[in-house]
Amino acid sequence: MSSNQQQVRVPFCPSAQPGMANCQVLGVLTECEEGPRLSYLNERLAVTDEVLAMAAPAKPTKVFRFAATCEESKCTHFDGHDCQLAERSFKLCRR
Ligand code: SF4
Repeated sequence: MSSNQQQVRVPFCPSAQPGMANCQVLGVLTECEEGPRLSYLNERLAVTDEVLAMAAPAKPTKVFRFAATCEESKCTHFDGHDCQLAERSFKLCRR
């Protein structure tokens, strides 16, 4: 198995925070009349201090949506096998 195939198997956290391993910007939030709208980037963008500074004066988490390597047992949403946050989100999407 190549290293690329191994990377695909590692769960990516859709609720990541800057500072998590392999953190990348997935999208940018903008305010619309209907509320916040998320526009996904066409390419993944690595999180750097320069990227985070672009959110100023807002907090980066108010402007960007991040993804990162799942922290598994370090995270309260991990049940030992799966991410329960993702499970709950998936169930809500199927309603
Ligand atoms: S278990 Fe935690 S770190 Fe992993 S994907 Fe879920 S919320 Fe993110």
